[in-house]
Parts: sequence; structure tokens; C-alpha cells
Amino acid sequence: MSPTPLPADLVLSGGTVLTLDPAGSEGTAIAVRGGRIAYVGDDDGVLAHVGPDTRRIALDGRAVIPGINESHLHATWLGAIWPATIMDGLAGGSGFAQSTTLDSSEQRRAAILRAGDIAASLGITSYTEPGLGPGEDDGATGACGSDVLEQYRALAAEGLLRARVTVLMLFGELDGPSALGDFRRGMLELADTDLDSEWLRIGGIKVFADGIPPMRSAWIHGHYPDGSRGELLVEGADDVEREAAMRTMITIAHDLGYQVGVHATGDRSIDAVVDAVADLDRADLRHYIIHGDLVSRPALGRLAALGMGYNTQAGLAPATRGMLAATLGDEAAASAWPVAAALAAGIPVCLSSDAPVLSPDWRVGIAAAAELVGESLGDARETMLALLRAYTVNPAWQDRAETWKGTLAVGKAADLCVLARNPLEVAPAQLPGVDVDLTVAGGRVVFER
Ligand SMILES: [Zn+2]
Repeated sequence: MSPTPLPADLVLSGGTVLTLDPAGSEGTAIAVRGGRIAYVGDDDGVLAHVGPDTRRIALDGRAVIPGINESHLHATWLGAIWPATIMDGLAGGSGFAQSTTLDSSEQRRAAILRAGDIAASLGITSYTEPGLGPGEDDGATGACGSDVLEQYRALAAEGLLRARVTVLMLFGELDGPSALGDFRRGMLELADTDLDSEWLRIGGIKVFADGIPPMRSAWIHGHYPDGSRGELLVEGADDVEREAAMRTMITIAHDLGYQVGVHATGDRSIDAVVDAVADLDRADLRHYIIHGDLVSRPALGRLAALGMGYNTQAGLAPATRGMLAATLGDEAAASAWPVAAALAAGIPVCLSSDAPVLSPDWRVGIAAAAELVGESLGDARETMLALLRAYTVNPAWQDRAETWKGTLAVGKAADLCVLARNPLEVAPAQLPGVDVDLTVAGGRVVFER
């Protein structure tokens, strides 16, 4: 007989547990102890984990999936303006609070806490805050400067973070220019920063290569109707200097052991990033392209071969495809955001919202992605599995944390999302109507509907 396990803090049983592991294993029950998963299996087996103080939750046919990892979420900014979004604002929606600026530490702390509530209510247990740093200390939002990192640090120390946070440092302006001198200085100072816990870590460095295609600020091989072709945002006298400066930034970060996430939307800027990474000496840092709207098919193959990631927002397709078609033509618009081709190339694609650009609701993101991939990933069930992995397993890879989060397995972090229905039995378009009933982060219930 095996020894009796120590009693669990929390047991959920009587439903479907989708582990999202490579084999696609399922159970009906899961037990949590000390912030880790103690058991995944059937309802009989979980009984051995029930003690007098164990909280038991009857799933009644509901489903448990790994906690959602929103791999590109400007959470502090979201906390400042939600439920407004940038996209609604562009579409003329009411309540757009573009002028909202966080101008004190107290406001920033409150916005982070509010973002934590929003995340918890959506089953999000990890997110990447993509771009905090000194270049935004006087920025328009007040939500991306150095003080935000200090507020995160304080909240983590107080145990008040509701989701695990990966920060990408930014040594330039958000959606704006950066200079090599500032970058070097920032990286030097970063060397003294020690921030690497399971709740808050500096995962890497954000670089803005270019802008976005509808604004004609994506750097492209072709040209826009006015004959222009965009340019890199990294400062330099001409294309050659700018590309060399960006390459140096990526190399500096890489040599210091930091992952680099590059905002690159134009095919030419993406190729420049891939060229830079191809010259580096190791693949384990998992540098990645953010957005990648106009990534070419050959570039997808190179990303896969180099062990790079692709982090994109399927929800941008319905929201901006018309604008893209008006700018670059129907053909370019039709082949943008190639999620299916990226997955087929073997890239662990991460889907994200870029909230508050879009709503942070990953269920809406999955519905949009399903529309984008059509039937290329298989039937509805296979499509749902692949897209769920793009919000759990693949972002854990991006976080270089797949050994301890991203799937449901004994010993891994007890980060769970309970859905009112089994998502594998729901058409992706219907997923936004499936409630998030419960969120558990690090074994703690952080949301209950
Ligand atoms: Zn962003």
C-alpha cells in the first residue's frame, strides 16, 4: 500500500480536468496542496487527499484547465482605463479614456490591483507586462514607467499579486523611438536588479522595431500607396544605421542572458530581427516577435529553426483587417496574422490581447483565432485544444517556465481556471459565452463567480 498523502488544501472533483499535456490526458478530479498540484486523476483516487480541513468543490460537470497566461498584457494601463479599450476608442466608442494618466504611485498601485481583479475574473493566473522602464517615466499613460516596477515589487513583497507577472524592461518609449545609448545605460543598471521569483520576474527586454501597418509605420519590403515604406524606430541616420543599432541592442541583451521580445509588424523589420538572432550563439533564450502582422512564410520557417517565438493578437484581424486592406491591399490583409501557418511551422505560438488595445478576454481571442485558422488545425475539438495551448502551454514556454507551469501535472503550480462547460465540447465561436467560475493562483482561490 502506498503511504497516505498529506491532506490537500483544495480538492475539485466530479468534472473534467484538461491537463493540456502533450498526450492530452484528462481526469475528473484534482487536488492542490501548498500551492502545487498534488493529484490529477479520477474521483476515487482523490479521496485519499481529502482531510478534515480540505476545501471540497463539486465541479458538477464543469471543466478545469490550466490558468490562463496572457502573454502580452499592459496590465497597469488596463487597470487604469478598463472597461475602455484603445480599439473601442479608435472605433469611436464611448468611455474612451485616452487622457487617463496615472500620476502617482498610489494610483499605479491601485491600477495594478484592479488589473489583478480583472485578470482573476477571467481565469488569468500569469501575464507579461510588456514594456516598463525609464523612457516612460514621463509617458502619456503613467502606466509604463520605472515606478510601475517598484509598485509591482512592493505588491509582490506584500503577497498581494493575484497573477504571476513577467516584466519586459523597456529602454525607450512605448510605441516610440529608442536610442542605443539609453539602451546600454539601462542594461547596465539592470545588472544590479535581482527580481526572479515565481510571482514577479524580469523576463527580458522589449524593443520596438517599428509601428503598425495601418499607420504606415511598419517597416516593409514593399511600399505604401504614397511610396513610403516605414522605418525602424531605433534611432539612426538611415536604414543601415538603424538596423545596425537594433542588432546591437538585441546582441547586448542576449549576451547578458536576457530574452528579447521585439515589437515588429512589418515583414522587413521582422526579417531584420530574425537576421540579428540568427547571428547569436544560443537558442535557449527564446527571443520572440511581438505582433508579427506581416510576417512572411519563409520568416516563419526561420523563426522555428532558430527556436524563436511568435506572439500575436488574433483579435486584431477582425478589428483592423479592413484598415490593413485599405493600406496594403487585399492580398496582404488576407495573409496577415498567419496563426495556422506559424503553428504548422512548429512555432509555439502565443496568443494574447495586448490589452487595453483589445479586451483582455482570452475567450474572445480564441473565438477570433478560430475564425482566422478555419479548419486548418483540424476539427473544432482539435482547434480548441491548439488554441487553449496558445494561452497556457506556449506562454509557459515563452516564460521559460514550462517545467513548473502551463499544464496540470503533479508538482506543477496550482494555477487553475474553472469553466462552466468543457471547452472541448463547445464550438470556438461559442466560447465567449462560457463563464469563468473559479480562478486559483498558486493554490489560492482568487476569484469565485
Ligand atoms: Zn503592446
